[in-house]
Amino acid sequence: MQSNFLFWTRRSILMGLVTSFFGSFLRPLELLAASKADTDEWTLSNEEWRKRLPADAYKVLREEGTERPFSSVLNDEKRIGTFHCAGCDLPLFSSAAKFDSGTGWPSFWEPLIDSINTKVDFKLIVPRTEYHCRRCGGHQGHVFDDGPRPTGKRYCNNGVALIFRPSS
Ligand SMILES: [Zn+2]
Repeated sequence: MQSNFLFWTRRSILMGLVTSFFGSFLRPLELLAASKADTDEWTLSNEEWRKRLPADAYKVLREEGTERPFSSVLNDEKRIGTFHCAGCDLPLFSSAAKFDSGTGWPSFWEPLIDSINTKVDFKLIVPRTEYHCRRCGGHQGHVFDDGPRPTGKRYCNNGVALIFRPSS
């Protein structure tokens, strides 16, 4: 039992070292490149994105920034409708999957089908699963395994990267 525990402790330390090594390696690359768009139509230069987006949305969508918690009005948005990508207007989340996570960021337990793609990032050294709009590649947030049922996932989204469209 004890040797098993030691094995896992050693393994965690080793994984931590490997992660921080690659983390410092990969970080400069990530700052340069947002995720790729899946169509030519949405493959825009940084300059073009800057013209299309407000500065705070650009920072999140194109540079993988994180907005301050409790800064988005979408935290308290409780109407029925759909949350769209603020970059390209692709529908990403239904209000039916929104829940109050208490984190200060709009949170969802499930995205709409075929709306997002994910990648692992190492910005905080520990690997996290980043997700972005499938169509334009705009960064939305990170997904964690501490969400509610039925999925157990928590999609922690920047409000500034979303546009809410209420159902009429
Ligand atoms: Zn998009």
